[in-house]
Order: sequence, then C-alpha cells, then structure tokens
Amino acid sequence: MRNFERSTTAYQKAVDVMPGGVNSPVRAFKSVQMDPIFMEKGKGSKLYDIDGNEYIDYVLSYGPLILGHADEKVVESLKSVTELGTSFGTPTTIENDLAELVIDRVPSIEMVRMVNSGTEATMSALRVARGYTGRDKILKFEGNYHGHGDSLLIKAGSGVATLGLPDSPGVPESIAQNTITVPYNDIESVKYVFEQYGDDLAAVIMEPVSGNMGVVPPNEGFLQDLRKLTEDNGTVLIFDEVMTGFRVGYHSAQGHFGVTPDMTCLGKVIGGGLPVGAYGGKREIMERVAPVGDIYQAGTLSGNPLAMTAGLETITAMDEEAYASINIKVDRLIEGFMAAAEKHNIPLTANRAGSMVGFFFTNEPVTNFETANGSDLEMFTRYFQGMIEEGIYLPPSQFEGLFLSVKHSDEDIEKTIQAAENVFATL
Ligand code: PMP
Repeated sequence: MRNFERSTTAYQKAVDVMPGGVNSPVRAFKSVQMDPIFMEKGKGSKLYDIDGNEYIDYVLSYGPLILGHADEKVVESLKSVTELGTSFGTPTTIENDLAELVIDRVPSIEMVRMVNSGTEATMSALRVARGYTGRDKILKFEGNYHGHGDSLLIKAGSGVATLGLPDSPGVPESIAQNTITVPYNDIESVKYVFEQYGDDLAAVIMEPVSGNMGVVPPNEGFLQDLRKLTEDNGTVLIFDEVMTGFRVGYHSAQGHFGVTPDMTCLGKVIGGGLPVGAYGGKREIMERVAPVGDIYQAGTLSGNPLAMTAGLETITAMDEEAYASINIKVDRLIEGFMAAAEKHNIPLTANRAGSMVGFFFTNEPVTNFETANGSDLEMFTRYFQGMIEEGIYLPPSQFEGLFLSVKHSDEDIEKTIQAAENVFATL
C-alpha cells in the first residue's frame, strides 16, 4: 500500500484554513471517498506527491498541460520573461504575438480579448452577446459546465426545456430565469426553445465536445443544426472551447468539426499552465467591447506577460504532428482499456475527441447527461482508488475527462493499460 502520511497531515491543516481544504471543489476527492493527495512537483507525464509517490498523470491540471509538466521551453521562457518584470499594466508585444497566433488557429476568432480564467471568458462573452443582440435569454445544455458565473450555474429540471433554477444558493432566481437548459445532443428540444423564445435568445452557449460530464462528443449534424438555427434567429452561437481549444486538434473543435461559431471562449491550454482565459469572435461583435465599443469588461492582470509567454510557447509547440502523435497514444489507450474490460467482464464505454477521453462504467452509449449518469459510480470509485495504488493519477470524478500530453510515452500507456487490467480484475 502507498503511504500518504504527509498528505494526510497537510490536509488536516488545510481543512482548517480553506473551505474543504481546497481552492477548487473537485480537488477535494469527495466523490471518490478519499482525502486529496498533495503534489510536490511534476515532470513530463509524471506527478510526484509530498510522500514521494510517483504517478502517470492523466489530469494535467485539468487540461492545460498538453506539453506535460515543466516543459523545458516553457520553463526557460518563463524564467527569462520573469527577469524583466512580472506585470506592467501596459500593452506588451507578447500580447500581440499570442493574439495573432490565436486568430490564425481558431477559425471564428477575428479579434480576441485576454482574461484570467475560463469563467471570466464565458461571463464576458455572454455580456457581449447580450449587449450586441439587446436580448437577455440564453440557452445552455444540461451537463455542460461553463465556469461559475451566475447565468451559467444552472442545469435543467425535468421536461423538454426548463427555465433555469439556480444550482447554488446565491444565484438570484431573476438571473437564473433567463437561462434555458435542454439536454445535450437533443436538437428537437433546441428547436422547441427557438419556437418559444427565438426573438429573445441572445446566445446559445455550448461545449462543442462536452468534457464536463465525462467526454461526450456531439452527434453527427448537431453542431451544424445549431449553427443554422442561431443564424436564422439572430442569436449568437458561442462555442465554449475552454477545454477543447488547442486540445481537440490544431484548429480546436470548431476546425475539427468544420462549424464556425460567432464567438469562442478559451482557457486551459491557451495559458500553458498559467491563469489565462480569452474570448473572441467576429470583428463586428468584438468591436462592441470597451474601449472601442460600449460593452464594459476589464482586468488588472489580463494579458499578463508570464501567462502570455506560457501560452505562446505551448501553442507554438503544438504543430499538426504533435496532435497526430498524441492521437496515436489515445487510440492505443482506448484499445487496451476495452480489451481489459472485456477480459474481466467490466461494462465499459469509451468516448473520445482528440486527446480527451472519457471511460464510463456502462455498456450503453453515452450521449448526454442522463446517459452519463447511467454509469456505475460505485464501480468508478473503486477503480479510481485502485488506479491510485497502481500509480495512475486520474480525474477524481466520473464526470471529468482524461487528458494526454505529448510527453506520455508508449511505456506510460502500456503501464496504464496493465494497471487498469489489474484493477478491473478486482472490481
Ligand atoms: N468552460 C469549460 C468548458 C470548462 O471546462 C471550464 C473549467 N473546467 C470552464 C469553462 C471554467 O474555467 P475556469 O475553471 O478556468 O474558470
């Protein structure tokens, strides 16, 4: 058995001074019935905890580290930029460089604004979409997560289309009522909402591949249908690519599926492990943003030189070959897991998009939040705990995807498959 003595002591201190001992809830490991593990360092595909245990990491800080931990080039560039000062509150040329790269790579983005997190990106994009259309209502999908902004912390109740009820105390009902939620991949429900509220809908916001109910790709034609409905109704289509951006492929999910939204939100990979988000889109929409336009949004540390540098190095390193090489590893991982599951009679379904993978403990196809919930969560918990013992660090929830980096080696993948086989044998 692995020893977690130091982590346990650290956690006991942490719970006294931070809610749940953590600065973001999923880190608390509540759903997998363990105490969180405190990490000390990462290198490449590996993480090392404060008790000296080593792990192959499939969390990668929840997605940003597509180059793996402490990539040499990223670290070197950060060192030299830090020497020059950490923040100026003025424009810097590195912001130009990253903006140009983002515009070059992401088809929908003609102008971009940098912010500090994915939450800020989606909150800001919604304000811009509302300001631009002069409408208040938005449509989102059940099981899609867009950060913790008031308008977005809403899921569906029962029924085809539900006017939002807040998920959390503190979200005013008056705000939640402007959020309409329908099941993911259910175009008929979307059509129904457009029939009822088409003239009032400022935006449809969605994850073009959902990564917050495990990984759930869009059904064939779903994105195209959304594009047409929003266009016909003068509604802004926002792709929340905080997770999928620069992850699913060289041109992000929108390039991969060939559907161009009006606006796009980015986060995670765009900051290469430092706190960054961004939103952008059509010039006509983005020119409504202050100071050129009248819709206000600002940030003391937005465009921070360290964060821009980490993002620039990361995205630059991710050429088409890099994406292709990770995809081969993902193919093998899925193949190995499915074979191991079959051998031990474990119900397992795999969903993937580029280097995002979701394994669900069910034999049914997973296409939305309801079917994702059909997964055997108790089995997931035992699997998670078993994999930790095997030295494999997975997201501590059935509803988070796995990520791979360019640093995951063939040996890492084979070790992970063997670990899964060992654990499946005990479930
Ligand atoms: N949108 C999506 C699709 C996300 O996955 C996340 C975070 N997991 C967010 C928004 C919020 O980003 P952040 O945690 O950086 O605020």
